[in-house]
Amino acid sequence: MKKKILFLDRDGTIIREPHDFQIDTLEKVSFLPYVITSLAQLVQAGYELVMVTNQDGLGTPVLPWEHFNPPQQFMLDILAGEGISFLEICIDEHYAHEDHPNRKPGTGMILPLLQKYDIDLGASYVVGDRKTDAKLAENFGCASLTIKDALSNDGDATLTDMPAPPTVHFTNWQDLARWVLAQK
Ligand SMILES: [Mg+2]
Repeated sequence: MKKKILFLDRDGTIIREPHDFQIDTLEKVSFLPYVITSLAQLVQAGYELVMVTNQDGLGTPVLPWEHFNPPQQFMLDILAGEGISFLEICIDEHYAHEDHPNRKPGTGMILPLLQKYDIDLGASYVVGDRKTDAKLAENFGCASLTIKDALSNDGDATLTDMPAPPTVHFTNWQDLARWVLAQK
């Protein structure tokens, strides 16, 4: 059976985007409201999850792995405890100015997955909080859903020159999950 995938951004989508755009301590891990119950419902309904995240400078002194890993693992452990696990976790470490094909909205991390798995793109969604997430969806022919959490730093504030790609906007996870489940 073809897989229905939710390609999930991390910061600003699963956990809140802090004001310095870096989750490098446990104290900065704060889940979006109802993200856990909503993802649990979606997994129950047959969706599989792929995390797709840009982490500028990961593995350099700006964001060493030993600062990145504890909050990442803490988040994954909490989600796993509620039956939410990821088929794949894709992390890109490049900066925007490097223009690397793996960095969202580039599809470099996604294209190998489209080869590896039999994915029903028509029933899959990219879920993120920025125009770059919506653009990623457009770039590989998937629908885009965006969520804007009121307490997250708005990443789009840094993307004022970028046109807004097509997407369906939500302000909370409950509405997003209800909408996705109604599409079946
Ligand atoms: Mg984000």
